[in-house]
Amino acid sequence: MNTFILLSLVLIAVDVIYLAIPFILTRKLKVIEIPTNFGNVKVKVMERNEVNAFSFYNGELIITSGMLNLPLEDISAAIAHEIGHIKLLHHLKTLLFINIMLAISLYFFGTPYILIIVSIIMILLQRFLSRLFEIQADSFAGSLVGKENVIDLIMKFGERKAGLLSTHPSALVRVNYLRRG
Ligand SMILES: [Zn+2]
Repeated sequence: MNTFILLSLVLIAVDVIYLAIPFILTRKLKVIEIPTNFGNVKVKVMERNEVNAFSFYNGELIITSGMLNLPLEDISAAIAHEIGHIKLLHHLKTLLFINIMLAISLYFFGTPYILIIVSIIMILLQRFLSRLFEIQADSFAGSLVGKENVIDLIMKFGERKAGLLSTHPSALVRVNYLRRG
């Protein structure tokens, strides 16, 4: 098969899966309305003890049942952060980046040395982008619920996600950006 056709098929498959995931994954989840301090917001609840919130490109907001035990300010800040990801189109920008990354990797598939160098550059770029998105979502959340509420949430739960291999910046970095911005 022609390389270009193969490459296009791989990219289309990745895009279809990425775009279908929220519909498949959240289809059966219970919808509840959370009275945040910036108005009522509809979210879907995933039965998990851990505290977590996430979102999808189609505007779907998901929180874990573990999160429902937190004070309303914390829940509001977490939801505001996820709304930031949606409004700033971070999911779609990530998808675009994945497409470009895959296309470049597949293009250099026959030349392993170049592929390794290109992969390292892309991994670093992906980490940078992901950290940038977190800081932007924090800043957006700050404008909705107030910086102090976002800082409180990060100080309580932010460090768990951060780490050497994590795409999340450390809690301290996030708090510093919020204080400065
Ligand atoms: Zn985030």
